[in-house]
Parts: sequence; structure tokens; C-alpha cells
Amino acid sequence: MYKCYNFKRFLVLLSCDIVAFFLIMLIIHSNFGGKNEGVAGIFNSQAEDSEKVFLPVIMYHSILPDTSQSTEFIVTPETIENDLKYLKENGYETVLPVDLVNFVDYNVPLPKKPVMITLDDGNYNNISYLFPILEKYDMCANINIVGEYSEFFSENGEEHIEKYSYLTWEDITALSKTGRIEIGNHTYNLHSNNERRGCSKFSYETESEYRKLLFSDIGKLQNVLYEKCSLKPTTFAYPFGYISDESIPVLKEMGFRVTLTCYEKPNYITRDSDCLYGINRYNRPNNLSTEKFMSKILA
Ligand SMILES: [Zn+2]
Repeated sequence: MYKCYNFKRFLVLLSCDIVAFFLIMLIIHSNFGGKNEGVAGIFNSQAEDSEKVFLPVIMYHSILPDTSQSTEFIVTPETIENDLKYLKENGYETVLPVDLVNFVDYNVPLPKKPVMITLDDGNYNNISYLFPILEKYDMCANINIVGEYSEFFSENGEEHIEKYSYLTWEDITALSKTGRIEIGNHTYNLHSNNERRGCSKFSYETESEYRKLLFSDIGKLQNVLYEKCSLKPTTFAYPFGYISDESIPVLKEMGFRVTLTCYEKPNYITRDSDCLYGINRYNRPNNLSTEKFMSKILA
């Protein structure tokens, strides 16, 4: 009887232990989710849920003082200075694409009111007009280079003409050394609004043919920027904003961490690295006042 009671008690205790064991396993499994994230992973995913950083991004191209030349893609130095002054006075701080990567990868905080300034094509006048303004307001910007334009002006050896010239490899090296400019890739020779539409994929092209094209063209600029300027850009700007979904895995494979589009929408940056592929940007035409343009992008 005693033995039997003890045996029953043993069975009861054993079943309690089994239930407790399974409960503990259940809790562990639900927290770690089988993702091998560890304790840090739990805290990170909580941060992912709660933290979304509003990021307006502006896209400029050429900067020329003669207003008769102002267009949708050419602004005056006065326009860009008014924009940056407005942003500064309203508490915005410029960030570079690398800051977004550091936010995602290493939890490096972004400023309270971040804004990103980008300039496509690598016009030489970015040095003469943009750079002094960046210094004046202690700001930074991303410039996206077209390989064949920079190659041509690097090799012809002629003096720069503000209206037509593009940054040479020497200019690019000097700009990136200042720490105010992050250089991005804007294709070597796919900057044409032709049948292909920038670097987008033809419907009849196979994925492997398309991958080959991107590696040979975008990869060529990566190689030249490394050889001539010791740079390994991790930002890619789609020419004319034409995007192919098939480009994303290829660009990731090439080491790009941020891609820039021309969709005029705000961005909300999270801890998910995928949110950096397809950053939206507002083109800045010269025919809007700073107040009007900013009310559109900062809303
Ligand atoms: Zn462009």
C-alpha cells in the first residue's frame, strides 16, 4: 500500500515534471521562434516593430546659376541653398545611405529629423556649387556617378565646363575624401531612356542573361571606381527610376545595400534591411519655391 502510494505519488510528480518541461520548451520555442536569434534577437525584433523613421529624400541633378537654363533637372545654386537653409532652420539633419545601413545593421541611431540629399549623374557643377553650400550648412550628400560620363571627362583632359562637364575620377576621389559625399553607382553605360529603359529587363531576356548584363555594366563601374578612386559603393540609383524586380537579387549579390528610385513618396526606415531596397525620392524642379516644395515632401 505504502509502496503503491509512493509509486502513485511518483507518477503524479513525474507527470507534473513532464508538463512543466513541455511548458518551458513551449515558452522557449515561442520566444526564439526557431530562428537562432538568441536574447538579442528578441529585443531587436521588438525594436523593429516599434521604430519607423520617417525619411524624406530629395533628388537633384545639375546646378547652374543662369535661370534661363533652369528646368525640372537643373536648379540654380540659390534654389539648392534655400532648400538646405530651410532644412537646417527647421531642425533637419542630413544623412548618407551608409547611415541607413548602420542603423539597420548596428542600431546606430539616426537623427531625430533625418533628410537625405541625392544628386544623380555626377555633374561637375556639383563641386563648384553644391559643395560650398554643404560646407556652409555642415551637411552631406550622395552623388551617383554614370561611368561613361566620368570616364570621358577623365580622359579628354580638357578644362571643365560647368554646363557640360562631369566629375572625373580625380574629382570623385577628392569629394569622397571630404567625408561629406557618398558616391553611388548609376550604371556605367545604361543611362539611356531608350527601348530598354535604363537598366530594366527586357521581357524576352532570361534571368541569367539579365544577370550577366548587370554584372558586366554595373560591375564595370564598381571595378573602375575601386581602381581609380579606391571606392566600393554600396548605393545604386536606377537610371530614370526604371526598376525591374529581377535586379534586386543581382544587386544584393553585387554588394549593394541601398537602391534609389524616383517614386515621389516618403520612406519609413525600419530595422529590416530590405526596406533599403527601393528608397523613394522627390525630384526637385527649379520652378517651385522652397516652401512649396518642402511642404510637399515633409508632410
Ligand atoms: Zn540619371
